[in-house]
Amino acid sequence: MSRDKKQSKDTPRKLIHEEQAIEDAVNVAIKEAEDMESIAYLSRGEGSEEPIPLGVVPDLSVLPKKMRAWVIRKERHGEPMKSFKEEIMPVPDIGPNEVLVLVMAAGINYNGVWAGLGQPLSVLDVHKESYHIAGSDASGIVWKVGSNVKSWKPGDEVILHCNIESETHTTRTETPYDFISYDPMASRGQRIWGYETPDGSFAQFTKVQAQQVLPKPEHLTWEEAASYGLCYFTAYRMLITQAQLQPSEVVLVWGAAGGLGVFAIQICKMVGADAIAVVSSDDKAELCMELGAKGVINRKDFPHLMFKHGETEGERAKRLEDMKRFGQAIWKILGERRNPNVVFEHVGEATFPTSVFVCSRFGRVVICAGTSGYDCEFDVRHLWMHQKRIIGSHFANALECIRANELVRKGIIKPVLSHTYSYHEIPDVHQIMYENKHSGKMAVLVQASQTGLKNTEEARGAAKSVQARA
Ligand code: NAP
Repeated sequence: MSRDKKQSKDTPRKLIHEEQAIEDAVNVAIKEAEDMESIAYLSRGEGSEEPIPLGVVPDLSVLPKKMRAWVIRKERHGEPMKSFKEEIMPVPDIGPNEVLVLVMAAGINYNGVWAGLGQPLSVLDVHKESYHIAGSDASGIVWKVGSNVKSWKPGDEVILHCNIESETHTTRTETPYDFISYDPMASRGQRIWGYETPDGSFAQFTKVQAQQVLPKPEHLTWEEAASYGLCYFTAYRMLITQAQLQPSEVVLVWGAAGGLGVFAIQICKMVGADAIAVVSSDDKAELCMELGAKGVINRKDFPHLMFKHGETEGERAKRLEDMKRFGQAIWKILGERRNPNVVFEHVGEATFPTSVFVCSRFGRVVICAGTSGYDCEFDVRHLWMHQKRIIGSHFANALECIRANELVRKGIIKPVLSHTYSYHEIPDVHQIMYENKHSGKMAVLVQASQTGLKNTEEARGAAKSVQARA
């Protein structure tokens, strides 16, 4: 994050100029030192023990033993500024079906916040390693492939999806029902890379299964390409596969300017469905309309809408009143007394009773998270009397990721990158997310030296121009 440069009214103008000059000189000195480090590293060549300098894309033969990474450890669980710490870590070894990727840029997701907090559980207890490198989205360059991998080769420019399949899927099933249409999401070994596994993308190198690798859309920058996978592929499975969204249906999208929401709106538009976006500020409302929402509701206009456990009779009565007003706000946008066929849920506890209430007869509430809490309470009469369905959904399988990624490659679905930060700002950017101060998606640069670069050649060119200046 840029430092606060606000000056007091009383600070003399001369002093401000001097301070600025000193800061500029320090920044130039730091940059020059980094450039010298890059030149020195590259001239040492292959087999170096030490990490590649940040912002440098060396020759494919260069594979150091060590890398820079942001690491969460059990004793540091807490808010992002406390839980993430930079460490020098070994570059991961890969197995026969795996791929090692040089991370050019990484996407920020809420699961990094959960991993740092150690809530609702410590992910280190899940994967049982003593370290956790978070990060479930990345763009990068294939650096090394396992002996069985035929689909990718070193040098390929790629993005990564975060679903790890069980390699022993077929042998670990206990009943024929375990196969459930052979969807890898049904496999007991299914894991989310960078959350339930320890080697995610907030590092210079990451390792993934070959099936996690997808072609990078050529028209996108490294940071744009790193930003969309986890949220977009999740929204795709929720709406297309699970809710079976149809043209002309109405979809209520909670948190519509957030990571999941911005893609839910675009998917609705693509299918010919009307998205009603719910947000908490005017800026976010504007973004949703730009993305193609039919209308926007500001949840701040319904101060009693959010469910809280232990509410009093009076609070409950006010909430029910706000729930009805909220339903009417939907009708107003639609210009008719019509309820949403699909409710796109991830907020959980706070909004779930409203979601079930406003959903139409035979409608679907599709849910993938409980950001406000998991213990959802609702009036079940609204569900059974109008034969509504609640559908759980979790990330996406490889086929869904491939199909969804093709829509990005064709320019039909677009990343919504609100801001790109530096590698050094990984804790800060998670803190911003934790405090709900962002919209759309955020990314960080890792080996890309600057924003706006789209491929390896451009990345190397940018590094060379830096060296030429040095
Ligand atoms: P995000 O970018 O932070 O967006 C979430 C949005 O939810 C916020 O913009 C906020 O919008 C809204 N929100 C937050 N608290 C709320 C509350 N109490 N009531 C109503 N709205 C609230 O996060 P995201 O990337 O979209 O992810 C959302 C959740 O889904 C996270 O818990 C994440 O871990 C989870 N997730 C799960 C999967 C999966 O595969 N299962 C995949 C992706 C994400 P307003 O303030 O504007 O209303």
